[in-house]
Amino acid sequence: MAKVLCVLYDDPVDGMPKKYARDDVPNITKYHDGQSAPTPKAIDFNPGELLGSVSGELGLRKFLQSQGHTLVVTSDKDGPNSTFERELEDTEIVISQPFWPAYLTAERIAKAPKLKLALTAGIGSDHVDLQAAIDRGITVAEVTFCNSISVAEHVVMMILSQVRNYLPSHEWVKKGGWNIADCVSRAYDLEGMNVGTVAAGRIGAAVLRRLKPFDVKLHYTDRHRLPEAVERELGATWHPTAESMAKVCDIVTINCPLHPETEHLFDEAMINKMKRGAYIINTARGKIVDRDAIVRALESGQLAGYAGDVWFPQPAPADHPWRTMPNQGMTPHTSGTTLSAQARYAAGTREILECWFADEPIRDEYLIVDGGRLAGVGAHSYSAGNATKGSEEAARYKKA
Ligand code: NDP
Repeated sequence: MAKVLCVLYDDPVDGMPKKYARDDVPNITKYHDGQSAPTPKAIDFNPGELLGSVSGELGLRKFLQSQGHTLVVTSDKDGPNSTFERELEDTEIVISQPFWPAYLTAERIAKAPKLKLALTAGIGSDHVDLQAAIDRGITVAEVTFCNSISVAEHVVMMILSQVRNYLPSHEWVKKGGWNIADCVSRAYDLEGMNVGTVAAGRIGAAVLRRLKPFDVKLHYTDRHRLPEAVERELGATWHPTAESMAKVCDIVTINCPLHPETEHLFDEAMINKMKRGAYIINTARGKIVDRDAIVRALESGQLAGYAGDVWFPQPAPADHPWRTMPNQGMTPHTSGTTLSAQARYAAGTREILECWFADEPIRDEYLIVDGGRLAGVGAHSYSAGNATKGSEEAARYKKA
C-alpha cells in the first residue's frame, strides 16, 4: 500500500465556503483538439466546490483510503522542518500544484528513496528537478489541458485590463472619485495592436483564437510551427525567435513551459529590444523573465505594463518587488485554479492514480518523464535539466 503526500494551498482565511456563488459549472468533456477531458472511473466530489485547498483534498481521501493507501495532505511545504520534508522519507507518490508548488529539488528527491511518482494536479512540472527525476527513474505526470483554457481566458482579461488601464480606473471609483482624465491618460484600444505569444501550444493557440475577433495583428514563435491552415485561419505570423517577434509587438504574452531553454528568456537585453511602451503578460512561469529587469523597465517606461499570476519562488515573500512595482496587474497564481478548472484537475489526478495503482498505462499526453527520459508531452514541450534553483527562498513567505 502506498503513502501519498499531497501539498495544497491553504483554505480560505474564513474557512471553507458554506455556500458558493453559483450552483453549477459547465461540464466540459472534450477540448479543442479532440482530447477528452479526464475520464476517471468515479469521482467523490461535487464539481464546482473548492477542491484545491487543504480541506478539499482534491476529493481523493475516500478513494485512496478505500484501497488501503495513506493520504497525508499539507500546505506546509518549505524549509527543512516543513511537514512536506518530514513526510517525504517513506512517500511513494507526491501530488503538488503549480499554484503552491512543493519544490522537488534534487536534495529532496535524495531524501525520498521510495518516491516513484510526482504528480502535478495542474499543468507545469518545473517545480520538479526533471533531471533528478530522469536520473532516479521517477515518473512525472501532469493533467495536460485541464486548465489551459482557464489560463487563456485570464490572459485575455489581463491584456484588456492593462491596455485599457482598468485597475487604476476601478480604484478611482472605490475612492469616490470621477477622475476621467486620470483614468484615461494611460488607456488605449486593443484594436490594431500587434500581439504575440511565446509558444502556441494549448494555451498560446487558445489565446490567439480568443484574440482574433478583436481585430489585432497576431504573431507567435514556437519550436514547432502551427499547421499552415491554422496560421491562415488565425492570420498569425510565425517568428523563428522570441526576439524577432518581441521587436514588432505591442503586447507579448508568454505561454511556454519553464525549462532550461526558456529560463530568463525575457532579460534586460530582450526587453530593451521591445517597442517602448509595450506590455508583457506572463501567466506561464515567473522565472521565464528576469525579475529585476521587469521592475526597471516599468520604472523607466520601457514597459507600459506587466501583468500575470506567476512568480518565483511561490509563494512570493512580502518584499518581492513585483508586489509594489508600478503599472502592474499581478495576482497570486490563480488563473489555472478556478472552481471550473479544479473539477478537471481533480478528476485528472484521480484518473492518473487509478492507472498507476492498476498498473495500467498513464495517457501519453499526461507524461512528462517516464522510464528515465522525457516522455509524452514532456518530450515535445520540455528540455531535460533543472529549473528549481533558488526555490528555497519560498521559505521566507509569512502568511499575511
Ligand atoms: P503545451 O505543452 O500545450 O504548450 C507548450 C508550448 O510551449 C508548446 O507548443 C512548446 O513547443 C512551446 N515551447 C516549449 N519551449 C519553447 C521555446 N523554447 N520557445 C518557444 N516555444 C516553446 O502547454 P500549455 O499551453 O497547456 O501550458 C504552457 C505552460 O503554461 C505550462 O507549461 C505552464 O508553465 C503554464 N501554465 C500556467 C498555468 C497558470 O495557472 N498560470 C496553468 C497551466 C499552465 P513545442 O511543443 O512545439 O516544442
